[in-house]
Amino acid sequence: MRAYSENARREGKRVGFVPTMGALHAGHMSLVDYARSACDALVVSIFVNPLQFDRADDLDGYPRTWQADLDMCAAHGVDVVYYPTADLMYPQGFQTKVSLGPMTQGLCGAHRPGHFDGVTTVVLKLFNAVQPHLAAFGEKDYQQLAVIKRMVRDLDLGVEVMGRPTVREKDGLALSSRNVRLSPQEREEALCLWRGLNQAREMARGGKKKASRLKIAAEAEIKAVASARLEYLEIVAADDLTPLEVLDRPARMAMAVWVGGTRLIDNAPLD
Ligand code: AMP
Repeated sequence: MRAYSENARREGKRVGFVPTMGALHAGHMSLVDYARSACDALVVSIFVNPLQFDRADDLDGYPRTWQADLDMCAAHGVDVVYYPTADLMYPQGFQTKVSLGPMTQGLCGAHRPGHFDGVTTVVLKLFNAVQPHLAAFGEKDYQQLAVIKRMVRDLDLGVEVMGRPTVREKDGLALSSRNVRLSPQEREEALCLWRGLNQAREMARGGKKKASRLKIAAEAEIKAVASARLEYLEIVAADDLTPLEVLDRPARMAMAVWVGGTRLIDNAPLD
């Protein structure tokens, strides 16, 4: 992988990179299309990273659609699909991890022990292998995007990290590889996340600035659905993710909700 990138760089090419865990959908492809347009050589990685899973059943049951993924990459002009095995990434004796501070402790970090250490460790390893000029990440995983931007700054990685908007179904559900686990009824009920975010957004647009009022309104949308269980719902500063009581700077509402046995996350700006 590194030889390919070093060669591309020698030829003066701009290397673009989209890291994924496969089960590719239109959300991933929006990142691919963006990076394709901004770069000369385009690498997609497919690696279901065991280090970032906090539950064995989630890792074992993670959807794997290898051939469809390759077809999609080919159709969107991807030059290289990099798919290391877990043994290659974490050989016997592996013991180093990249661990960030407070930004990884709230939101998903508070409920998924070790998750962000797994993310930052694998992304640094992937960056080292792919040596990209630019890497595209989705706002769908907003905390992940903010954490990776922080890591790149803190460790002087020299990669341009580009955040791209969340791609949604027509009715508002954020595309996710985990959506295939929803039953038809749960698929309907999963819209409560989007309804909650919209409720808060409208209140913010209408001038409401108290975070607690917006949170109560959004929570009501989740509580109205019997099969939905709220894991967290927070309003945080858009840049460093500190919790806000008053919307006095660019803010983001982020939530995780269990719908039946599936954990869904979503977020939106409150500007
Ligand atoms: P994953 O395969 O879930 O690890 O996601 C790989 C990349 O795709 C991450 O940067 C995600 O944020 C991004 N992504 C996942 N779902 C979406 C979506 N619905 N819209 C935009 N980007 C997404």
